[in-house]
Amino acid sequence: MQAPEPRVEEYTVGWICVVQAEHETACQMLDQVFDGPEQSNPLDENTYVFGRIHKHNVVIGRLPAGQYGTNAAAVVANDMVRSFTKLRFILLVGIAGGAPTNDNDVRLGDVVVSVPRGTLGGVVQLDFVKRHRLANGEVYLERMGQLNSPPRVLLGAIPEVHRRRRHPKEPDRIAENMARMADWPEYQKPAEDRLYRSDYAHQGGPNCDNCDTENLEPWSLEERTYRSRRAVAVHYGTIGSSNSLMQDVEERDRCANDPSLKILCFETEAAGLMNTFPCLVIRGIWNYSDSHKTDAWRNYAALAAAAYARELLSVLKPQKVVAQPALVGLCLVNQTASSEDTLSSSREKIAGLLKEETQEAFSELKSKILIL
Ligand SMILES: [Zn+2]
Repeated sequence: MQAPEPRVEEYTVGWICVVQAEHETACQMLDQVFDGPEQSNPLDENTYVFGRIHKHNVVIGRLPAGQYGTNAAAVVANDMVRSFTKLRFILLVGIAGGAPTNDNDVRLGDVVVSVPRGTLGGVVQLDFVKRHRLANGEVYLERMGQLNSPPRVLLGAIPEVHRRRRHPKEPDRIAENMARMADWPEYQKPAEDRLYRSDYAHQGGPNCDNCDTENLEPWSLEERTYRSRRAVAVHYGTIGSSNSLMQDVEERDRCANDPSLKILCFETEAAGLMNTFPCLVIRGIWNYSDSHKTDAWRNYAALAAAAYARELLSVLKPQKVVAQPALVGLCLVNQTASSEDTLSSSREKIAGLLKEETQEAFSELKSKILIL
């Protein structure tokens, strides 16, 4: 049965994506598409897609073409929240570079979800750390500041997603969700998953045709099916976030193997949102954060992440979402703004604060490197 067009205050879930593949896959997860509210806030620069997933009214926003990074994501989220004042949380859904280790067998097409581990809240801002070189020559990363954990209502739904995935008689719902794009050839699973050894750099060219398969990690030659009965493997833990793309394997391995971090993947938006908006980050792995070119997995990874997000929303009861406080009461922008003019200046203020934080972190980092 088709739901009636919701009022503005009936949208409870915000969904933010960055690149085109993330936007397309998000929209394909909607059960029903709405026209959206007639009157929109003229100061809101976002373009939205409106729809329904199970019983949740969802507004999907994306970063403007060509923009990425923590600041750009914060501005989009800020506009979204001031236009849809009854949103309860934001899902940040898209792609990331994986950080595979012996402990964390993260592969292309897997999904990583930001879940608290130890003292970490699920996302670590990697350009906001101090580095110390230990007596044995190893580098120790000391985190500065702390990002908030995802909202409890979302973390509370994850065990049920996990149970359904483990139950032998339950269908593979993430695979079913991915099948919603079965007729999009460019979103099908690529044939090859190559993980090169850390000490083997890309040999040049737009793809890895020149790169020697003798230098692959042994596990990239194995079938993935031995790991999971399901189409997609899901990892829960810490996501590294910064304003720059991770393509340095030494740094990747350091962050992934550091017992205080255990980073599973790297992305470039989440740190801009976590402390201002209740937010869960869901990332599909499209490369290995190295110099090798694996664009082939971009679309499939975006689809896997969107499919997981849809499964999470299917488990989450709408009445539990509605019982959460609306973001308008939680966010800095809405605590301080009482008119449209001040709303606009608040948006700039948040972007400025985030920029300052990042610059401070870089200065700190630079001075440490000089000392070392
Ligand atoms: Zn290569």
